[in-house]
Amino acid sequence: MKLILMGPPGAGKGTQGDRLAARFSIPRLSTGDMLREARKAGSPRGREAQRYMDAGELVPDDVILGLVEEALATPAAAKGFLFDGFPRTMTQADGLSALLDSRSSELDAVVTLDVPDEELVARISGRRVCGACGHITHVIEIGDDTGCAVCGGPLIQRSDDSEATVRRRLDVYREQTEPLLEYYARSPIGLTVVDGTGSVDEITEALLAVLADTADEVHG
Ligand code: AMP
Repeated sequence: MKLILMGPPGAGKGTQGDRLAARFSIPRLSTGDMLREARKAGSPRGREAQRYMDAGELVPDDVILGLVEEALATPAAAKGFLFDGFPRTMTQADGLSALLDSRSSELDAVVTLDVPDEELVARISGRRVCGACGHITHVIEIGDDTGCAVCGGPLIQRSDDSEATVRRRLDVYREQTEPLLEYYARSPIGLTVVDGTGSVDEITEALLAVLADTADEVHG
């Protein structure tokens, strides 16, 4: 199963992407996670990326396409993958298409989560991430807890989840990434829009329902 999960920041791509990846036994390839890893490791690529990320701007396409090329070449991604947060520009979409062509591979589905702006800002500014295992949660769910429900690790706010940066990230999404929805909608594979509001379980069910036919075709 080769999927792209699209949607604005805060739409639930990480949470739902994890669930879909587990369901289809494929890796979730999040360019945001790859950049945060590079940043943590203190690599030159990570340091360069940091200033863009902290400003809510996009990291240059060549950096992103380099990361994606490496990820696609790993054995884990041989049978399938789910992209989360990639592609974000037309250049990245073209780059992905060239990378897949060169591997005689093609996408099975492009799905986007649809969530209104007001809800996105509330979701992201309340988002907390476990510094140890990466589990994503929200202040509404955790109350006064400071530890991760999964592993007990420390819950932290991502440095680019502040309200001002979130608003910039939404503008960048509208300007540079939203046009890709039209691009995929017009492509032979098409675009599937899923309502990204409701409970986490309801959204997972809606995603699995729209992907059921594709999964049958892929797995036979
Ligand atoms: P995310 O975790 O997907 O919300 O990404 C966090 C930040 O990483 C974004 O605001 C960008 O600065 C950067 N980033 C992640 N993926 C991409 C991408 N495909 N293209 C450019 N920048 C990216």
